[in-house]
Amino acid sequence: MSKKKLGTNTICTHVGEIKDKQFKGAISPIYLSTSYEFDNVDIKRYPRYFNTPNQEYLSKKIAALEHAEAAMIFGSGMAAISHMFFAFLKQGDHIVVQNALYGGTTNFIREEFPKHGIEFTFTDGYAVEDFEAAIQDNTKLIHLETPSNPLLTVTDVRGIAKLAKKRGITTTIDNTFASPINQNPIDLGIDIVMHSATKYLGGHSDILAGAVASNQEHMDRIWNVSKNLGGSLSDFTVWMLERSMKTLALRVKAQTKNAKKLAKFLDEHDDVAKVYYPGLKSHPEHKLARSQMHDFGAMLSFELNEGIDAMAFQKQLQLIKSSMSLAGVESTMLLPSETSHALLTLEQRADLGISDQLIRFSVGIETFKDLKNDIKQAIAKTKVEVLA
Ligand code: PLP
Repeated sequence: MSKKKLGTNTICTHVGEIKDKQFKGAISPIYLSTSYEFDNVDIKRYPRYFNTPNQEYLSKKIAALEHAEAAMIFGSGMAAISHMFFAFLKQGDHIVVQNALYGGTTNFIREEFPKHGIEFTFTDGYAVEDFEAAIQDNTKLIHLETPSNPLLTVTDVRGIAKLAKKRGITTTIDNTFASPINQNPIDLGIDIVMHSATKYLGGHSDILAGAVASNQEHMDRIWNVSKNLGGSLSDFTVWMLERSMKTLALRVKAQTKNAKKLAKFLDEHDDVAKVYYPGLKSHPEHKLARSQMHDFGAMLSFELNEGIDAMAFQKQLQLIKSSMSLAGVESTMLLPSETSHALLTLEQRADLGISDQLIRFSVGIETFKDLKNDIKQAIAKTKVEVLA
């Protein structure tokens, strides 16, 4: 069966299954061996080589979902990002990095690259011209994240890919927020896609993992570095990730549907000052998002009116959990200033437009009306507290 012709739900359910030839079980067996026979075999299997049966087969599912030739699974999203970067950057090289991006990635670049003599420039904005202006003669990589964390800015993926191709620069993208269900950057011209699989790919807030997908040539290069750095994922967790990914499309579609309705509800709410969601017509890059995403995703952010304390509001929520991470089937909220972007200075946060009032909302699969009612009652109670 040609994988290209398979629908997304079929890829999620079946691609990368290991057939249980011995007992004919319905699901992939787990191979926990860290030691494999090496006589007369083509592949020297070892977990740190990212090629145990479970690692190898699940990679096929991720590659199929990202329309890539190959993929690798890592022990975390940061392992995926760092191994990917180190595969393409050496002393004296330069990377152009989008300014608005996950705080951990920003921190990694700022803290680790100077130790290795790798130069970096964070763009001023996220327009194609901002990326172009940051390119130097020694630029080897351009890294983007769209929609971005936490302000949901949308970068012109085709525009950046075209610019990079013209200048002979490799492009990498963090596709975590969209997930492969809502965006396939390789189809838009991007070279390498990475995910924090801790988020939508895992989807149940119980797996820490990462993934990278690209063509075979780029993946071979990443593998050569990764086998030395050693950030692979244990086979038991790989197996759990396979199980989770069977419902990836179902979950993400349900979450996206809820997010669209909640963005509209918040946008029309008198006590909400601003909503950041690419699916809203008022979002500055709404048309761009429509042209490059399959759907608008299940992440949004919003600011309550001045005077309604964001932290107090969060404490009043009964159903929606306060949570550090995102993309689980359960809805969660957090204050980026206290969590994902807490490692940045106040000035850096202000430059990025991340105020103390900003609340990031990861929309889950719960019934829409229950989520809406939870927000309503929490705003009402917070307002009463202010008046008291
Ligand atoms: N990229 C994005 C967009 C994220 O939100 C995160 C984590 O929150 C990461 C990367 C890092 O992933 P991990 O926590 O799995 O290392």
